[in-house]
Amino acid sequence: MSELEIKDLRVSIEDKQILKGVNLKLRQGEVHAIMGPNGTGKSTLAYTLMGHPSYIINSGEVKFKGRNLLDLSTDERSRLGLFLAFQYPVSIPGVTVANFLRTAVNARRKANNPEDKGIAVPEFRKLLKEKMEMLKMDSSFAGRYLNEGFSGGEKKRAEVLQMAMLEPEIAILDETDSGLDIDALRIVSEGVNLLRSQNIGVLLITHYQRMLNYVKPDVVHIMMGGTIVESGGAELALHLEEHGYDWVREKYEPGFVSAA
Ligand code: ADP
Ligand code: MG
Repeated sequence: MSELEIKDLRVSIEDKQILKGVNLKLRQGEVHAIMGPNGTGKSTLAYTLMGHPSYIINSGEVKFKGRNLLDLSTDERSRLGLFLAFQYPVSIPGVTVANFLRTAVNARRKANNPEDKGIAVPEFRKLLKEKMEMLKMDSSFAGRYLNEGFSGGEKKRAEVLQMAMLEPEIAILDETDSGLDIDALRIVSEGVNLLRSQNIGVLLITHYQRMLNYVKPDVVHIMMGGTIVESGGAELALHLEEHGYDWVREKYEPGFVSAA
């Protein structure tokens, strides 16, 4: 069973300390939500886990499947079964969704078995069709250039499609809910739930609790000032929905006084 274990992770960017000791243990099959005000380091954590070069690790350790994740390249991390859905996906002109996905699926297969010759085209088409139907995506989508001219909702769906095709063991979703209307949110959430039922572990980073109405978290963490300050069950997210973040800030941010 895969698990992701983060121990006392400290990360800075441009000499500014952002993560100040993050601890977290996520097992396959679990959904953990990380919530928190803007600017507290949630995306920094996601990018660090994926190996973005701008983020400097000052100390701490991340274990994934018994490996030292921080020693691996982004590519190796992804081949090992880690997936990150970005808050702001980039577009790749000239590369279709289908081609992109086939390349990605083949890379993953090859990592598991160096002898693998790649997925046969008919098999790939069948798999893609199946997953696209699950996400209620029009079949023409596969022939479009990745993310080029995609609406916010389409980008997010493309990411969940990518996740469904790659079948990662742990997925990190950074604000996958942002910019989605309620229908798109429901469809994307259904996709995440389906993957969860296939025993994937999900780290769901979000500012709002609305996605958590559809994807029920096992654990909710609140991040403030670069550390996790509170952890609890789904009720913690509901509490935030009702009371906002001021009570957290009053408790953990020196000098903060609520305007209310
Ligand atoms: P969140 O996702 O919780 O909103 P981020 O991780 O994006 O927070 O940002 C945390 C802090 O890091 C913020 O204060 C932000 O201004 C700073 N930060 C993020 N990216 C950069 C960067 N490229 N250069 C300098 N500071 C950055
Ligand atoms: Mg963010």
